[in-house]
Amino acid sequence: MVKTDQDTIAAISTPVGEGGISIIRVSGDDALPVVQKLFRGKDLAKVATHTINYGHIVDPSNQQEVDEVMVSVMRAPRTYTREDVIEINCHGGLLATNRILQLVLSYGARLADPGEFTQRAFINGRLDLSQAEAVMDLIRAKTDRSMDVALHQLDGDLSRLIRQLRQDILDVLAQVEVNIDYPEYDAVEEMTSQMLREKATMVKERVSGLLKTAQQGKVLRDGLATAIIGRPNVGKSSLLNALLHEDKAIVTNVAGTTRDVIEEYVNVEGVPLKLIDTAGIRHTDDQVEKIGVERSRQAIITADLILLLIDQSRPLSEEDRELITATEQTPRMVILNKTDLPSAIELKDLKTLVNGDPIIQTSILEQSGMQELGQAISHRFFNEGIENRQNQVMVTNARHIGLLKQVESALTEVLSGLDAGLPVDLVQIDMTTAWNLLGEITGDSYQDELLTELFSQFCLGK
Ligand code: GDP
Ligand code: ZN
Repeated sequence: MVKTDQDTIAAISTPVGEGGISIIRVSGDDALPVVQKLFRGKDLAKVATHTINYGHIVDPSNQQEVDEVMVSVMRAPRTYTREDVIEINCHGGLLATNRILQLVLSYGARLADPGEFTQRAFINGRLDLSQAEAVMDLIRAKTDRSMDVALHQLDGDLSRLIRQLRQDILDVLAQVEVNIDYPEYDAVEEMTSQMLREKATMVKERVSGLLKTAQQGKVLRDGLATAIIGRPNVGKSSLLNALLHEDKAIVTNVAGTTRDVIEEYVNVEGVPLKLIDTAGIRHTDDQVEKIGVERSRQAIITADLILLLIDQSRPLSEEDRELITATEQTPRMVILNKTDLPSAIELKDLKTLVNGDPIIQTSILEQSGMQELGQAISHRFFNEGIENRQNQVMVTNARHIGLLKQVESALTEVLSGLDAGLPVDLVQIDMTTAWNLLGEITGDSYQDELLTELFSQFCLGK
């Protein structure tokens, strides 16, 4: 059977094995007739659109009941794909879910390719490309804040901005075309390059601004790789537990590519920390900790941020000093722990020793200073007051970042061409390139290959 855009497609659209309810989504012209053959309850052909209907899925071949279900009927065009969409909400676990999917498939739908629902939403004009990518980011979003970023993108904030910039470029290109028709006037040539320069400068500034948000965007999406470092007994495990405990709800264990890599995510004041190398500071086998400095080296190299713990109830040891030196090159915050005990360290001396890096005083035991620690991390990360600019458009997607960098360099070419006094019609080529590249972000000038590649990254069922 040859796959086409016209097929009615189906897939399980909830994470397999997670949660009590699973949803099978069916989209296309035959969505309703297919499900109707399997549904015992109201006549789905007669129910109003956007309603949820109680009933049972029955295997037509033997009249056996498979599951008790709620079926949502959503008729085109106000649906995710802009086609007729039927969603079967079932609760019978993996087995029943799979069985229903098999029935749907044997009665006329075909299994959706990964991302095919979203691809249809795109093809049918419901989402533009950057919105489609936002859906993908949303699936992976790890904290509320990155969820916000993805949602804004879904709203089309980025698309709107990009389209505006394209329009600006188009306006000037059109003007250039008009002016080129009057080559006899030198003044026109002069005016045209002035106009090009202004536009190129303006657009380039906006693009650079967007690229600046990319680093933060990346962290929001992937987490800030954070290592908790310190000699034995300073309170590393206690800190880890305190962080994990305060944020139980969103802690996830993500099995990495190798079997024994475990990453733990924790949301600290809106900054997702990806705690690395936590295996060593779990109290399963303290032998591991004794290896101390050597073990920490790898974590120090990989980390974006180091939380260096020091026990202020004891004088600085040789090992403390070694770790201070070893972490010098990485962004670092010093946690002076055990403030509930008498102090054996002079704060001023330590400040000098750590080159003025922030020092936060805590008693993890008595849970004091934890809020200050959180705020210090957040401040460090969002130090430009991103907090108050939640509506700012952020770029988080690697493909967008790549394209924006190309746009930036095309515009640099435009400007240096003008500086060098190149003829306007040559400069125009680079300006057109920038316009095309921006179009690739929103999919206004897309290629088929790109689409296939992109949508194949989606989870099945989205
Ligand atoms: P690690 O070896 O660096 O992981 O340190 P632990 O977290 O295992 O802590 C070592 C010991 O210090 C434990 O007995 C903790 O209860 C204790 N400890 C941790 N934080 C504090 C603190 O703020 N004050 C006091 N007095 N003890 C603490
Ligand atoms: Zn420990």
